[in-house]
Amino acid sequence: MTAILTVTGLCKRFGGLTATDNVSLEVKTGEIHALIGPNGAGKSTLINQLCGELAPDAGRIELGGREITHDSPEDRVHQGLGRTFQITSLLEDFTVRQNLGLAIQARAGGNLRIWDRVGARRSIWAEADRRLGESGLAARAGTPVADLSHGEKKQLELILALAGEPRLLLLDEPMAGLGHVESQQMIAGLNGLRGHVSMLLVEHDMDAVFALADRISVLVYGQLLMTGTAEEIRRDARVREAYLGG
Ligand code: ADP
Ligand code: MG
Repeated sequence: MTAILTVTGLCKRFGGLTATDNVSLEVKTGEIHALIGPNGAGKSTLINQLCGELAPDAGRIELGGREITHDSPEDRVHQGLGRTFQITSLLEDFTVRQNLGLAIQARAGGNLRIWDRVGARRSIWAEADRRLGESGLAARAGTPVADLSHGEKKQLELILALAGEPRLLLLDEPMAGLGHVESQQMIAGLNGLRGHVSMLLVEHDMDAVFALADRISVLVYGQLLMTGTAEEIRRDARVREAYLGG
């Protein structure tokens, strides 16, 4: 199996604190790879270096075999690196469908035939309706984002990220703040994408991690403790001590 993401020796220091300490890991093409670790372990710092919001102090990042370590966030998106939009980036006064239309337009940007604006607009809305139809949010198409529940907003974040047609999707705590039913829906939604898009999933909800992850990497104090299957992670004494609580 080839790797969609290869991270080698990634380091990020904040003053005297080493938030990611020589981290190397690989996400295989098609895999759902979970990244777990206690609060402050460096998970978000790692994600932010991958998407280009934070410049690493050392190390190398490759997406599909091509180095992207120094590429801008926008260039990484164009090369197929997606991340969930944060809820704060949703346009609250716009409807679900309008938010999705804007995300599709952002992706299609350069490819739109500007001499045919009507045709371009029609194809954007057709795609928006198709994507909504495949999601659990179709009935909410005309609803302003401000009127969505927290769980619906998390669903919309995912739909918008997918509209970028990523090869690798970075997910930083997609279950955060979700109730049981909403978590189950999110797990089902992500499971439905298995094989279509590779994922690096940061998540505290271990039920979700064990339900989704093909492999799991454990980060502790900025260092990668181990990578393995759910079984291997559960069995490992160091992981139990550092994270799973004995
Ligand atoms: P996690 O997502 O695993 O909870 P973070 O990556 O957010 O961990 O943080 C890792 C460590 O780096 C923490 O000690 C945090 O306080 C520190 N940190 C994160 N971002 C910054 C920053 N911008 N400036 C200074 N310290 C930071
Ligand atoms: Mg975090």
